[in-house]
Amino acid sequence: MSKSPVWHPFHQHGLEEPIPLVTHAEGAALYTDDGRRVIDAISSWWVTTHGHNHPHIMAAIREQTEKLDQLIFAGWTHEPAETLARGLVDLMPDGLDHVFYSDSGSTAVEVALKMALGYWHNRAEPRSRILVLEHSYHGDTIGAMSVGARGVFNRAYEALLFDVGTVPFPGANPQPSLDALEAACAAGDVAAFIVEPLLLGAGGMLVYPPQVLAEMRTICARHGVLFIADEVMTGWGRTGTLLACEQAQVTPDILCLAKGLTGGAIPLAATLASGAVYNAHYSTDRSRMFFHSSSFTANPIACAAANANLAIWQDEDVRGRIDALSRRLGKVLDRLAQRDVVTNPRQCGTMIAFDVDTGGDAGYLADIGPKLREHFYGCDVLLRPLGNTVYVMPPYCTDQDDIDTIAQAISTGLDRYAR
Ligand SMILES: *Cc1c(COP(=O)(O)O)cnc(C)c1O
Repeated sequence: MSKSPVWHPFHQHGLEEPIPLVTHAEGAALYTDDGRRVIDAISSWWVTTHGHNHPHIMAAIREQTEKLDQLIFAGWTHEPAETLARGLVDLMPDGLDHVFYSDSGSTAVEVALKMALGYWHNRAEPRSRILVLEHSYHGDTIGAMSVGARGVFNRAYEALLFDVGTVPFPGANPQPSLDALEAACAAGDVAAFIVEPLLLGAGGMLVYPPQVLAEMRTICARHGVLFIADEVMTGWGRTGTLLACEQAQVTPDILCLAKGLTGGAIPLAATLASGAVYNAHYSTDRSRMFFHSSSFTANPIACAAANANLAIWQDEDVRGRIDALSRRLGKVLDRLAQRDVVTNPRQCGTMIAFDVDTGGDAGYLADIGPKLREHFYGCDVLLRPLGNTVYVMPPYCTDQDDIDTIAQAISTGLDRYAR
């Protein structure tokens, strides 16, 4: 076969690593063209919540394709988008009454940043500085990269990234971070603070406690700084609750949702905003409207899939499944943590992670990452370590047999490649 013209994301083609071809999927399993069943232990990059091809989501997509494929969303509307917006407002924390659609986590973040800037602009108050948390990741478009940690991911693009204020990641003693946030907010020029609640994903699966999130929210409120919660990865049950913010009883001013919004079946994102943010744009003056759109804003088929996801949350015991999976993963982590090479074991709901002590080589480009990845694939498990950080984040339907296979794959991988 001739070489594929496809250029893959986050993939070094020069290493000539094999690229599996998946023909179909069901639940926690991917099936490849060479007849393998591979466990999707990272939920296809953190998006698949209930499992692949959930029958209700697939049926909703099929049904919607027979009615309305796509519609301009500037000044026009359709039933799936209206139903979804009402459903989201009901389900999400009180006070987030306005729903703006887009199509990926990165655009949900861009929209959130533009809403925050628009809020201050329309109030004629000159605030434009954005604060971020150290090690954060918010997507790969230029604005989303700007509010993410600087590093190997974005070194080539740094000249184009805008300047932000960085608050240190809250460690065992969170006080220095909270003090830094307070000091930065007090300067008076900060438009918004954007944060991944409880769990920082691409930055290395780092966790911090709900009390710290609650205190950060309080500090922002005290200074009128808009609080943006990026729940693109943490939302839809990943951290054990529907939203991570729930565990800290935090209501953000702006909330970003994507990945699991459609159960992970099809791209859709939503940025929810408070009345204050919406009202800053509400006027008879057309120059104050919110200037953002993309062609596929609120695509009806994607909205129909999301409505099916909301129905699943209402009708099925999703929370029970999440609790059961979290307990099972906790046991796996406890066993792994007994090994000398396993450091900093951590869990947040249905995510477990640890660092492999390689005696030096660490970070995203650590050599052990691709070695372990290949080993895991040999064990019919899809895991993609972030350098020397190994994490597991499976769909909620993953059963004990598959968890055992994942645990075994990690165990033999450590036997083989860790010191
Ligand atoms: C994945 C992710 C994004 C970006 O979402 P895309 O749909 O990949 O653009 C943004 N924020 C967080 C926290 C994420 O994990």
